[in-house]
Amino acid sequence: MIGRQNRDQLEFFVCGSLRDLVPDEHILARVDRVLDLGWLKDDVADLYAPGVGRPGIDPEAAVRLMLAGFLLGIVHDRRLMREAQVNLAIRWFAGFGLHERLPDHSSLTRIRHRWGAERFRRIFARTVTACMTAGIAKGEVVHVDASLIRADVAWESLAVRHVDAVTNANGDRTAETQEGQRKSRKTGKFKKVCLTDPDATMATSGRNRRLEPSYKQHGTVDDECGVILDVEVTTGEINEGQAILDRLDAVAVATGASIGTVTADAGYAYAKVFAGLEAREITGVIPTKAEPIRSKVPLRRFRYDAKHDLVKCPRGKILRPNKAKISHGRFFASKARDCKGCDLAPLCLSASRVTKSVVIVHDYPALLRARRRRDRWSEEDDRLYRRHRWRSEGFHGEAKTWHGLARAVRRGLGNMRIQAFLTAAAINLKRLAAALLATIFALIAQQIPRNELTRA
Ligand code: SF4
Repeated sequence: MIGRQNRDQLEFFVCGSLRDLVPDEHILARVDRVLDLGWLKDDVADLYAPGVGRPGIDPEAAVRLMLAGFLLGIVHDRRLMREAQVNLAIRWFAGFGLHERLPDHSSLTRIRHRWGAERFRRIFARTVTACMTAGIAKGEVVHVDASLIRADVAWESLAVRHVDAVTNANGDRTAETQEGQRKSRKTGKFKKVCLTDPDATMATSGRNRRLEPSYKQHGTVDDECGVILDVEVTTGEINEGQAILDRLDAVAVATGASIGTVTADAGYAYAKVFAGLEAREITGVIPTKAEPIRSKVPLRRFRYDAKHDLVKCPRGKILRPNKAKISHGRFFASKARDCKGCDLAPLCLSASRVTKSVVIVHDYPALLRARRRRDRWSEEDDRLYRRHRWRSEGFHGEAKTWHGLARAVRRGLGNMRIQAFLTAAAINLKRLAAALLATIFALIAQQIPRNELTRA
């Protein structure tokens, strides 16, 4: 017989807790078992004047609302509060009763402004500590990667810096203007900027992809269970190599453990990164890059002698440093009389040059050692680098696919950092909840007495 559901409202009251209506396996119910925000009220107390004004939203309730949004992929405040009106699980998770009035969405915006990004970093840091205490993160083997996040700006908001001023100054001298533009593009004078979000900068994740106004998230993931140990957001144009050493130092402070091995992709393969890892006694599983300039007499045939600070060319002639300034290294040049009559000169020297110049980057010996190490990667190194792909890149994919990090929700670096911290905290809480569930299943499998199971 076909059943019939009575669509009229039958109950005026709900007896018991809203918790009874939320399934145990619901993500908010699972996260609630491992979430401890009891410390938060004291942490933000200095931002509120005691006994003055209307009582604000309970800080824990506000953070729980935000976390519920990130866990369920509802990252916009208006949408979140509309959903919370009818979603029992969100109401229960944030501590609001069935008939209780929910805060206005603008209250969450005000809280973010009042607290600032650092308070949200502390919430994220607490999840890292909880994962360390639970034993699902060790901080000894870590995977580092960065990912671009599209800024919340329209294409129409992009403008070319100074273009009007230059055009006006040049009047109708079209040819000169074009020449000036060509030169200025190299110096960044004609770089595109976002008028509505100046913190976002034009960046791309590949040579064949177009530049987009972006932020860059730098993430460090633990090898054990994929716990996120550190996350930081910069403007899109910041290079990975500029950020990695600071982030590793931050991880060591946050976890209290010394990092033994770090994996990263070739985007981090800079001499100064390898030198920084050596100074910290960290093993880097990072594939080195091919030589940027292809020549018939490649740079690797020029031997750098660190002891005497000179370079020997393939014919054994000496190249010495000259005074030409360059930000990332030094020029070493040969003498014209050495190259004159050299049989390799047609291949080695550029057209119309009578001497050879090579650039030796700062910390070049560390780069050479890293290249030699790359040639001798063990099976364990290969295994770790394979894990890098699904641990580190998996984190960015998870954050973008399920937690709304594919696009910035708000404008400005501070807001972007808050979004990244809350996303990372939500993912860590998921890991923690999964670990707790695994422990319970393990205890059930061992047929532990029921009273012990309840305590666990
Ligand atoms: S051209 Fe000069 S730098 Fe090049 S191999 Fe000959 S002597 Fe050495």
